[in-house]
Amino acid sequence: MSIVDIAFIGSGAATTTTLIELFDKLINGPLSGIMLNITVIDKYPEFWKGIPYGARSSVNSLTITPVSDFVSTGKERELFFKWLKINLDDLFNYYSLNGGMAAEGWLADNSAALKNEEWDKVYIPRFIWGIYMQNKLLTLLKTAEEKQLVQVTLIQAEAIDVEKLTGGLFNVRLEHPDKKQTTITVKKLVVAIGSAPVKTYEMPGADKPYTYINDLYAPLLDDNIKALRTTLAATENAAERNVLLIGSNASSIELLYLLNNRPDVTQQANKIVSISRAGCMPYHISDTRLEHYPTLHLDAIKTSGNYNIHTLVKAAKKDIEQAIQNHVVRVPYVDRIIGYTIELMQVLGEEAKKIFFGTYGMQLTRLIRRSGPAYKNASEALLQTQQLLLVKGEFAGITQQDNTGLLNYIDPVTGQQQTYNLPFRVIINCTGADDLENSSSRLIYNLVNKHICRVNLSGKGFEVNDRFEAASNLYVIGPLLGGNMNKRIYFWHIENLARLLYLSPYLADCLLAGKGILHHNRKASD
Ligand SMILES: Cc1cc2nc3c(=O)[nH]c(=O)nc-3n(C[C@H](O)[C@H](O)[C@H](O)COP(=O)(O)OP(=O)(O)OC[C@H]3O[C@@H](n4cnc5c(N)ncnc54)[C@H](O)[C@@H]3O)c2cc1C
Repeated sequence: MSIVDIAFIGSGAATTTTLIELFDKLINGPLSGIMLNITVIDKYPEFWKGIPYGARSSVNSLTITPVSDFVSTGKERELFFKWLKINLDDLFNYYSLNGGMAAEGWLADNSAALKNEEWDKVYIPRFIWGIYMQNKLLTLLKTAEEKQLVQVTLIQAEAIDVEKLTGGLFNVRLEHPDKKQTTITVKKLVVAIGSAPVKTYEMPGADKPYTYINDLYAPLLDDNIKALRTTLAATENAAERNVLLIGSNASSIELLYLLNNRPDVTQQANKIVSISRAGCMPYHISDTRLEHYPTLHLDAIKTSGNYNIHTLVKAAKKDIEQAIQNHVVRVPYVDRIIGYTIELMQVLGEEAKKIFFGTYGMQLTRLIRRSGPAYKNASEALLQTQQLLLVKGEFAGITQQDNTGLLNYIDPVTGQQQTYNLPFRVIINCTGADDLENSSSRLIYNLVNKHICRVNLSGKGFEVNDRFEAASNLYVIGPLLGGNMNKRIYFWHIENLARLLYLSPYLADCLLAGKGILHHNRKASD
């Protein structure tokens, strides 16, 4: 039986950035004379780009932050910007040919700024990072293979189960696209599967008379927009050509931006309705620096000296209210408040810090949800024409009426369940990741319920030590690390490329460390 030295489940940015570091260390480090046998498994056929930077997103999907924050520090920043400068004209040409109306607008607004290296002004199309990351990985892989340092096997399959064997090995159960199942045996296992799937909603209607999209990025965002358009175009009654977005996470504002650049779709639609607890779209961003950042509530508890983690966060939330004015988040002000809160937390002890990173951090992030100007302007434009309507309330389910779905929701003012007054032909789930304990991912379900991994306080991440281990030799990287607080990993969310770039060299070290992984000969293990 062949035993894999290191297996990665998932081949998105978390795996790619880690392998880039690992190959680099092997090529340039003192470990020559070893051959590592690595397997990378992904349920989707495209490797090395993951959901945001590859074909599952749109070529028009933009980064959430300006490119200067997207690749914010470290060696990759310099390397990426150097590559970008060299390849800018080719990238612009490719984008202009493939991006349609959105690309036309984006290039008009941003090409001069990018040429002038004004990195803090531009939100780049995410596919650009996908090309960079994939090229870099493939170049290093070629060298590492030529030097017989690694042998890499790619498998398209969904990892559905893990079994711990005696002797510290793992069996990983794989389901292939033809539904056949096989098992591989692994010494070190890396779980790099991105965020947990969104909460799944059961939709009534046996043969779904309306179109329901549970995951906007599966199989592909472009295919889902096509399905939306086809359904609307095939709906005879114009008053029924309505689209419902459940939840307002980042995917909903991305979709609105894409739709606003697709008149062929918006002309087919009557109303687009977004239901969310907040009842609003993410805020505008202002980077303006102020002379003073008043923090009255944090100052008051600092002066009193008598606070705990709960009263500290309460004060921080009050001060954040001041940092948001007229739906604009003043980012330097918010940064100041968060920095100050973390400073005041230092005296509260480890348990308080764990509570902060596990539960309160995400609450603060939700208060300051914001999006870049292009996305924000698109949702504003749709609101202005009243094609987009925002409903504040708790989603309570769908009932079928003829060939449409009706929205039931809890009105936050009355606390009563109501039915919205429009029928929907297309319903799209734009909620966030579900709690791991209820995950529809068979892999996550099995890791939790077989007690191989423990869910941390956030409910959205696995508890790990400072070597990324959720169990001995089982490593986690990517969004499932969110909510941890230890010497190395201290983030309430890791849905962020810059954090992956920071963490991946450390994970590469952990994977190369220890006995039993490296073969001191030039053969792949078997
Ligand atoms: C749509 C979207 C847009 C984003 N935009 C930004 C941005 O602009 N800036 C930013 O900093 N961050 C952004 N993020 C955050 C993102 O989490 C990180 O930047 C980074 O891409 C995470 O990489 P990953 O490899 O952990 O996840 P992913 O890219 O999700 O890759 C995980 C891979 O695992 C595979 N997989 C999952 N389960 C299994 C299984 N059981 N078996 C086999 N394969 C499996 C999936 O097919 C996928 O290819 C975005 C995330 C999404 C989803």
